Amino acid sequence: MDTVLFEGGCVWDGTGAPAFPADVLIAGNRVAALPPRLGSRRQPARRIDVSGCTVIPGLVDGHAHLPFLHKADIAETGDVPPEEHTLETRRHARTVLEAGFTSCLSGGSAKPRLDVVIRNEIAAGHIPGPRILAAGPELTNTGNLGDERRMHIHRESIALIVDGVDEMLHTCRSLVREGVDTLKLNISGNQTIPGSRPQQTVMREDEVQAAAQTAHAHGKRIAAHVRAAASIKSALRHGVDILYHCEYADEECLDLLEAARDAIFVAPAVGLLHNTIYEAERWGITYEKAKANGVVDQFEQAQRVFAELRKRGVRVIVGGDYGFPWTPHGTNARDLEHFVRFFGYSDSEALVAATRTGAAAMMLDGQAGEVAEGFLADLLVVAGEPQKDVRLLQAPDNIKLVMKDGQIYKDLLSTES
Ligand SMILES: [Zn+2]
Repeated sequence: MDTVLFEGGCVWDGTGAPAFPADVLIAGNRVAALPPRLGSRRQPARRIDVSGCTVIPGLVDGHAHLPFLHKADIAETGDVPPEEHTLETRRHARTVLEAGFTSCLSGGSAKPRLDVVIRNEIAAGHIPGPRILAAGPELTNTGNLGDERRMHIHRESIALIVDGVDEMLHTCRSLVREGVDTLKLNISGNQTIPGSRPQQTVMREDEVQAAAQTAHAHGKRIAAHVRAAASIKSALRHGVDILYHCEYADEECLDLLEAARDAIFVAPAVGLLHNTIYEAERWGITYEKAKANGVVDQFEQAQRVFAELRKRGVRVIVGGDYGFPWTPHGTNARDLEHFVRFFGYSDSEALVAATRTGAAAMMLDGQAGEVAEGFLADLLVVAGEPQKDVRLLQAPDNIKLVMKDGQIYKDLLSTES
């Protein structure tokens, strides 16, 4: 069995405990031991000097869209043929892995089989990329987020349009047949849709119920875009597992989210909110425009809600809708800084959200998300102490080494020495 020893550095193990000096011995795809210092007692196949660095668990993006193509107008995504779309998604998978994300929980594929085929190719070892839990396209109603059609013209999009229980059942079962891990619903509207606003709950209760029952009947999970308070309550009533956004949560929602905290994961997808307001001017979205569209208000509401969910012990995961021109793939680690700046997390807490909590959301709790004996060898070697300053994770040069499943996918330490 291949053995690798990371020696001379510190370990931050993903539990939130302080870092400690230790070597890390990898055997095959697992962490075999964390000896204080292995020295010459045992001869691993390879020794890597990581002094000055911290070994941390691989990061997890809990709201990824690897098939998003950096389109300012997301409607153009539907114009891209499946072949080109697959190849570009494959490139994004590699970019995100090299940025330190060893797992991605998809918040929606852009075509039915894109996430699925990329997940399978990565899992088979044919292409580099993170572990993926694949979603289907977002399931949306006529006139809501992802419906790009008009009366006189058909247009494909990132979503599948379903109206009524029968269409929902047929579409959900088809996606399960095609191999998705997660079904994704758009229950509330969105700021980009004039007729379906973020504070409006547009998907009907019986549609949500039909989708959730179908997912769970097949042992799959269901995630939902829920900005409006009533949409959050609908999702919780029907056992939705992963709730995205949640900005307009009222007091009752906060209580319900807290009561369900051992069963659910919640993600603010804050990266897109932040960058739409402050970094999208090149694409015609000024601060004033973002304010007029309600995005500024949404961001303020997110700060209220997620500071509260942190205090209530709800499992919040990072992942900020990366894949727009102003949120490019590979910059996903910026989400951690947003947790610290806007939600009251300590740097260490934000890193736990991105590692141990993220691994639990990937259904890998007890197997990944920690640097500990017996855990999967998904880990990063980072220059400095990211648990004290998560901004360090944003500089590609600081991510010295990326290991996933015991394989090294990026190694600046060997090339620098
Ligand atoms: Zn999303």
